[in-house]
Amino acid sequence: MIKRKLRLLAIVMVVMTITIGIQYGWDLHVAQQVIKYDKEIVLDKPDYKINVEFIEETMSLNATQKVTYTNNSTDTLNNIYFHLYPNAFRTEDKAPFEKSEMDRAYPKGFDPGYIKINEVKESKKEAEYKLIGDELTLLRVSLASPLKPKGKVEIYIDFNVKLPYSMGRMGYGENTVNIANWFPIVSVYDNSGWNLDPYYPIGDPFYSDASEFDVTAIFPKEYILATTGNVIRKHERSKKNTYQVKADNVRNFVMIISKDFDVKVGNADNIEVKSFSIDGIKGDLALQYGLDSIVIFNELFGKYPYQQISIVATDFFIGGMEYPNLVMIGKHLYEREEDFPLEYVVAHEIAHQWWYGIVGNNEAKEPWLDEALTEYSTLLYFEQKYGAHIKEQVYEKIIKNQYENYKDLYKDTHVDILRGLEDFKSSYEYSSIVYSRGAMFIDELRQTMGEENFKKGLKEYYNSFRFKNTTTADFYKTFQKESDVDLSQLFKQWLNYTHE
Ligand SMILES: [Zn+2]
Repeated sequence: MIKRKLRLLAIVMVVMTITIGIQYGWDLHVAQQVIKYDKEIVLDKPDYKINVEFIEETMSLNATQKVTYTNNSTDTLNNIYFHLYPNAFRTEDKAPFEKSEMDRAYPKGFDPGYIKINEVKESKKEAEYKLIGDELTLLRVSLASPLKPKGKVEIYIDFNVKLPYSMGRMGYGENTVNIANWFPIVSVYDNSGWNLDPYYPIGDPFYSDASEFDVTAIFPKEYILATTGNVIRKHERSKKNTYQVKADNVRNFVMIISKDFDVKVGNADNIEVKSFSIDGIKGDLALQYGLDSIVIFNELFGKYPYQQISIVATDFFIGGMEYPNLVMIGKHLYEREEDFPLEYVVAHEIAHQWWYGIVGNNEAKEPWLDEALTEYSTLLYFEQKYGAHIKEQVYEKIIKNQYENYKDLYKDTHVDILRGLEDFKSSYEYSSIVYSRGAMFIDELRQTMGEENFKKGLKEYYNSFRFKNTTTADFYKTFQKESDVDLSQLFKQWLNYTHE
């Protein structure tokens, strides 16, 4: 996600408009490589089959889903847990926004959103289940018999979702309906057990396994669909369209619909890049930023392994938000006179396709892993596209500037980058430490390792952990392996991390 102060972006913009014009000629060659999925991963992924219909009159979803879940751990499991994120939006008091954001999140006043679970079955038999956790954002399904390692279970859930009039990740506004974090998603079972973090108001509190999706979705025909995955079939009836959408090796499944989308399509390295803008405003520009991002990150990290990426203008007050194959970009960024904030946010969210999307991590416990690397990748985008001096300007004026202002204000605060979301008091503290100081750490890592080894580290990190979840230890080990110098002091100093 990105929630930066746009004032800072505007300052850099002024500097940049002067220099960008001369710097635009760039040429990148990307080695075409065919990515083959690891068969092991393919067999063990959670597999979702979802049927959903959007009811416009009530702004709600009627849905059923069947999840085939494999126990990939060495423990025997008695329960399966699902996150029910729509319930985070049930009450004004607990809605996952900071208090100062509520007016922008709910411009017409608070409107509740929630999920109603109608029925849960395990392999066609009624299952015992309970809604638990903060605001009932968790579903615990008690299994009829313990699930042994490598065992599989099928869980069927019938549910409805009420979408709120809200400019957050899930909800709708004047132009778009954001169907995000909407279905019961299986929690991750890892070395720490089930991960049941609530929907924190700060950061992106999500953590999920790469999964397979087969979704059949029905919308009134006036709506244009932007989605994770690939539409493989579209059936048109007099009033409604039915889409079948498939996605593989993705951590989530999002759909954005609108009657006002103008769609522009381009191609970068054989990947379809789609730009959904509202009434065509800056649609071409967003498409160009998307094409450039794909080419640059393909070369720096490794090839984007999906067929398409959609850049979608949305009713979203925050800025940008990453989902697999789809980035939400606040429509206000398209309406600004300056182009720079739009370019910054598009590049940032597309970088997340690599860090969060393909290489996953626990965004609640170790958010720095994807956010710091993504923020630094945004700098790499500007460096590749416009030259090192532009990267330096963005680095000084946005990254360092925010961190130093923060330090001036909060002199005695501790600034370790490796902390969980519940450890941060505000989005300002979070972005100053995790994004800004985090990107400063990556820059320091680059200086310490040297250019060649650092770039090898990025590629190696991507290659080793595609479609898996990583930890700080994985990150440390990968970069240390590529480094000629000892990195332990650096990790201690910036992250307060000590490798055992
Ligand atoms: Zn981000």
